[in-house]
Amino acid sequence: MKMDRWRASVRRILNLASRPGPAPRSFAAGRGNPARSGSLHCSGRSCRETQFYFGHRQPLSMHLRETEFALGVSLIQSRCFGSVATRIQRNPKFATINSDDIRYFRDLLGDKSVIQDEDALLAANMDWMRKYKGSSKLLLLPRSTEEVSQILKYCNSRCLGVVPQGGNTGLVGGSVPVFDEVIVNLGAMNKVISFDEVSGILVSEAGCILESLMNFLDNKGFIMPLDLGSKGSCQIGGNVSTNAGGLRLLRYGSLHANVLGLEAVLANGDVLDMLGTLRKDNTGYDLKHLFMGSEGSLGIVTKVSILTPPKLSSVNVAFLACTDYLSCQKLLLEARRKLGEVLSAFEFLDEQAMDLALKHLEGVRNPLPPALHKFYVLIETTGSDEQSDKEKLEAFLVHAMEGGLISDGVVAQDIQQASSVWKIRYSRSIDESRGCLQI
Ligand SMILES: Cc1cc2nc3c(=O)[nH]c(=O)nc-3n(C[C@H](O)[C@H](O)[C@H](O)COP(=O)(O)OP(=O)(O)OC[C@H]3O[C@@H](n4cnc5c(N)ncnc54)[C@H](O)[C@@H]3O)c2cc1C
Repeated sequence: MKMDRWRASVRRILNLASRPGPAPRSFAAGRGNPARSGSLHCSGRSCRETQFYFGHRQPLSMHLRETEFALGVSLIQSRCFGSVATRIQRNPKFATINSDDIRYFRDLLGDKSVIQDEDALLAANMDWMRKYKGSSKLLLLPRSTEEVSQILKYCNSRCLGVVPQGGNTGLVGGSVPVFDEVIVNLGAMNKVISFDEVSGILVSEAGCILESLMNFLDNKGFIMPLDLGSKGSCQIGGNVSTNAGGLRLLRYGSLHANVLGLEAVLANGDVLDMLGTLRKDNTGYDLKHLFMGSEGSLGIVTKVSILTPPKLSSVNVAFLACTDYLSCQKLLLEARRKLGEVLSAFEFLDEQAMDLALKHLEGVRNPLPPALHKFYVLIETTGSDEQSDKEKLEAFLVHAMEGGLISDGVVAQDIQQASSVWKIRYSRSIDESRGCLQI
């Protein structure tokens, strides 16, 4: 269906209040879709950007040393008060890789999992935004928790800096070395360990690509509780370590709400088994939460257990225009009130973001008349009753139109149109991440 017809049909929907028109066609399926530190020094550039270098780039054991702690405190202050960039120096206490180290890793992992090739290292040393470049000479690809444990134990004993790496899609440079740290990438630990079709609890290795897990679950009639524009590359271990939010957070909450358990390896090689699968676990301290969003600063996450929701059959997507920001806020409130349990996503973008997406990205189209609107909102509903979900959305759109909260809008008539609308949102992240603002 051409976009015009789509718009026309939507206008009809939005005009329902004054003149009831034909019901919109529904579509069947869902949209396919801070600081680093430690030998796990975990280079959270989130901090680099703000000159926040707490306990930076040292083996975890070294963090505990008094002198380093004092250093951390002074640098925290520079974050609070400083606008002047702090230049960090490589800590001379760190060792550099030598041939004995390489031999050790080759014996441990096998030649194929010890990467010294310059081309391969180039990609691993560069972040997604191409803003930061490390100079690591060694990339390791462990295949088991035991191998991760042995790597970290050895690096800790040799005082070699380590940076954990997942899909390297992080937007704050945390996944690439600052200097010559050893990169430990979890990509080879990509197996689904178990899935319980009754409870929907998935246990997988940390290197599983998010999209692979989504595809796996799709076949089982479930979905991941998170969905990101980087799903084709990011890993579940990276998602957990960054406490990634994404498009489904409104409905399913953050990873703190969905991750039931973790296995992680500490800097000294100790394995912490917190891989529970019991949802209603109210026993004692819940240490796994410390690892979520810790960007590898506390250890390397090796396994994840996560609660996955069932896939629902009825999905509707509307793309709406608002004249001012206040209307967008009110629209959110109304959407939560009127759409209630079927509201699955509410995404906002302004005209600058839209312009960037249209200008720089192929295949992104504004389904509304261009240059007329200052703000846009994407609303998705997901439920189990197609007819009732559709009616609910229509009633909400009429209500919002009458209340002056929206000035225009379209409702996707099929999955292609829904994907097309979602592309604007997905692409916005790519746009920003690739630094289009600097073009
Ligand atoms: C197009 C695009 C869209 C995005 N959309 C979103 C979004 O909607 N919401 C959002 O929150 N983010 C988003 N991001 C950012 C990024 O994708 C997420 O932060 C993602 O969770 C990072 O996962 P990763 O596997 O690529 O981790 P990496 O980038 O490799 O690493 C990120 C951090 O986690 C650490 N780390 C990685 N794996 C492990 C592990 N196994 N154990 C311990 N530490 C580890 C790294 O050292 C680093 O500090 C987007 C990025 C892009 C490029």
